[in-house]
Formats: sequence, C-alpha cells, structure tokens
Amino acid sequence: LLEVKSLKKSFGAVEVLKDVSFSVPSGTVTVIIGPSGSGKTTVLRALNALDPADGGRIRIGDVAVDFDSTVSPAQLRAFRAQSGMVFQQHNLFPHKTVLQNVIEGPVIVQKRARDEAIAEAHRLLDEVGLDVKSDQYPFQLSGGQQQRVGIARALALRPKLMLFDEPTSALDPELVGEVLAVIKGLAAEGWTMVIVTHEIRFAEQVADEVLFIEGGVVVERGKPATVLRNPTEARTRQFLQRIL
Ligand code: ATP
Repeated sequence: LLEVKSLKKSFGAVEVLKDVSFSVPSGTVTVIIGPSGSGKTTVLRALNALDPADGGRIRIGDVAVDFDSTVSPAQLRAFRAQSGMVFQQHNLFPHKTVLQNVIEGPVIVQKRARDEAIAEAHRLLDEVGLDVKSDQYPFQLSGGQQQRVGIARALALRPKLMLFDEPTSALDPELVGEVLAVIKGLAAEGWTMVIVTHEIRFAEQVADEVLFIEGGVVVERGKPATVLRNPTEARTRQFLQRIL
C-alpha cells in the first residue's frame, strides 16, 4: 500500500533524511524506532506531506508524489488526504466538543453530509471507548482520552494509511496502556499503519515489521523478533541497550 523510495530531506545544512526507502503492505503495521533526532518524525511528516521532502518518491495506494520534480499544491492536497496522522500532542480544537472535533474534517474539508458524519463519529468514538464523552470539551478529558479522540478524528477522514508519531510519549505512564490498546485494536481490524514509538514491548506485539533509523538511513529492518531481540547490526544493538 505504501512505497517510499530514496526519501531525502534537509533543514538548512543538516541532511536529516539521506536516503530512506521502505514499503508497507496493505493491512500490516510498521514500527519505526531510532535515536532522538534520527529523522523518524521527519519521515512521518513527509508521508503526510506536512513537510514535503526534498527528493524521492512516495506512493500510497494509487496516489504518488515525486519530490524530485515540482509538486503542485493540488497534488500535495490529494496526496495528504491518503493518510491520517496522530501526533504526540493531540491538538484538538479546545473550543469544540469531542463530537465537533471528530466531524470537523469530514464536514468542512470533505463536504460530507453532516448527519452521516455524526453517525460515523459516534461509531468511531465508541470504537475508542469515548462515545459517552461526545458532548464534553477536550479540557474535561484526560491526556489518554484526548489522544483517543485524536485517533477517532484521524479515522473519520477515512484515510488508507494511519500514521502515529510517538502517540504516548506525552502521557503519564498510567494512561499509555489505553492508547496502545486502541492502536492494537486498529491493527487487529486490518488497518495499515506506520508508528513511531519508543514502546518496545508494544512494538513487539503490534509490528509486522520494524525499521531502525539512524543518521538519516534505514540501518536495519525486519521482523520484530529479529530487530528487537536479535538485531544484525551493531548500531541497532547499541540503541536497544541504551533504551531497554
Ligand atoms: P525524536 O525522537 O526526538 O522525536 P526524531 O527521530 O523524530 O526525534 P526528527 O524530529 O525527525 O527526529 O528530527 C530530525 C532532525 O531534524 C533533528 O536534528 C531536528 O533538530 C531537525 N529538524 C526537524 N524539524 C526541523 C525544522 N522544522 N527545522 C530545522 N530543523 C529541524
């Protein structure tokens, strides 16, 4: 479903992504791990065209962008609509209720019928265990609940691919589990996902493939049992020893 070829990105003189290539089959979960500053967030932001790459190609389903040539704003918008992103911090609209947050994208951006969007929002909120909170405001929810609303909001846009950027790193430890459980549920439903996380046990449980990124390249990729338990590369081993 997702194919990334020779992705490159620099910020000023700093070459953050040198040459990143990988692919994600439909219905599978890829977890990206790597040291702070290795470019994990930059990869996700390129996949969602929040920060277009400087070079390389990305294809999601049948929509492709080639960053080696000029990409028009319309192309970028069409490409962005293929994926949904969940951030470290939820960034919900503070003055809108949970339900209004979830229907905003479908109604305003996608111009879908409001009734239909509301029905779907209730179903999605139920899926993340929060339909009972649909009339509350973000400040009335815990951090974990806010993240779960963020997930429902991304799903409401019906993306083909879900992207998660360290979705639990800003949470108190006791709230991490409920968010990871929702993501595991999506994996079981067959969602195609790319997840950046430092939660290694979760990665082992949910990933079909793990990518270890360092220095702007994919150092190692493979099954979680191999990359996380018995890595081939010394750099992967060193990283895991530091964080485990
Ligand atoms: P972390 O685990 O800490 O989130 P990361 O692997 O996600 O790290 P990125 O956020 O992708 O790393 O950042 C990679 C590098 O690019 C860092 O050195 C960062 O300082 C730099 N960088 C990222 N965004 C920008 C930007 N908008 N302007 C300048 N430099 C940036």
